[in-house]
Amino acid sequence: MKVLINAGPWLPVPPLGYGGIENIVATLIPELRRLGVQVVLASVGDSTLAADERISLYPTGQFAALQRPYNQVCGVVPAHQNAVVRRIAQGDIDLVHDHVEAAGLATLAALGPYSPPGLQTLHWDLQKHPDLYGTFDGRGRVYVNGVSADQLSHAPAALRAHSVGHVHLATPLAAAPQRTVEKHGRVVVLGRITPGKGQDLAARLAHSAGFDLVLAGPVGPYHQAAQLADADPQNPDVRFWREQVAPHVDGDRVRWIGTVTGQDRDDLVAGASAALFPLRWNEPGGTAVVESLALGTPVVGIARGCLPELIDQGRTGLLTSDEDELGELVRAAAAIDPGECRAEAVRRFSPAVMASSYLELYERVRSAAAAL
Ligand code: UDP
Repeated sequence: MKVLINAGPWLPVPPLGYGGIENIVATLIPELRRLGVQVVLASVGDSTLAADERISLYPTGQFAALQRPYNQVCGVVPAHQNAVVRRIAQGDIDLVHDHVEAAGLATLAALGPYSPPGLQTLHWDLQKHPDLYGTFDGRGRVYVNGVSADQLSHAPAALRAHSVGHVHLATPLAAAPQRTVEKHGRVVVLGRITPGKGQDLAARLAHSAGFDLVLAGPVGPYHQAAQLADADPQNPDVRFWREQVAPHVDGDRVRWIGTVTGQDRDDLVAGASAALFPLRWNEPGGTAVVESLALGTPVVGIARGCLPELIDQGRTGLLTSDEDELGELVRAAAAIDPGECRAEAVRRFSPAVMASSYLELYERVRSAAAAL
């Protein structure tokens, strides 16, 4: 089977730092190839992941374009999608697995009856975009999957009608042997600084409940400390940082370290007594959640979005729907066995588990399209 996987024009695969979708594509492709699937990766020129073939329109990731006015951003995705369509027109692709928000689905639906069938993985919070998907018609050839059951439960009916189920996110950390890291005892919040991820609540809790907290991640998807001075003050993530998080960051009890990558990220998370997710949105897939488990760190958070599906209450983490209880749960998490967290990640969130689930979905999509 030859599958074209479209990772979009924003960041290289794998990404250098932040990049949830690009990370998952980078986790999936080597496993699919091990299972005998030939993979054509549509991405940007500086992607380094090995694939059977790579196509790209842009030499580098176009993420910075997202900071430009909307009318300048508009052309980026269609130009990339045109390159993808030209490749599909060569006629040797058996299935297209697309990861580009909304535009990818529209492209697949527009391809017509002689195109290969398509599967789109939905990575985002569908409640935020009901209008984008409300009238979607896959014409029997295009299907979608979610990254959690909760995410799909919020999808517009038109989209749910084309769903072939959900596949939880995976992490290569669940397959690699982990070295034993001594717990430094701090609590970590790993993720973009944005209202939905609740870093303000985490910071206030650290002061009131008395634990040391490290906030790791950019402000919004891309702002590091050095860029914040020039950032658009009306950007909602920048405002959230300035008005609700920064006042609680004292560099001692609460520290912000910006984006952390590679071994530094893994050591930070592995050494933490808990990974905290004080969510205010329905986290759709939670890569950072499964990474924390794989690094032997229990998850404490608000029981919403994908968290209740990923966390075994009391064994791999502690969830509550009451924000006031979080401080107590952070303390109680010290009793959770890191070995249980790690074992759960190996069993449920390894790349091999994810790839075989996708292979099943590919077969289902292909037989459904062939039956037309
Ligand atoms: N990430 C990282 N360094 C950071 C912050 C985040 O490497 O400082 C990674 C994190 O480990 C995860 C991804 O970025 O792999 C974020 O994906 P997730 O699904 O958790 O959140 P999203 O931002 O996609 O909502």
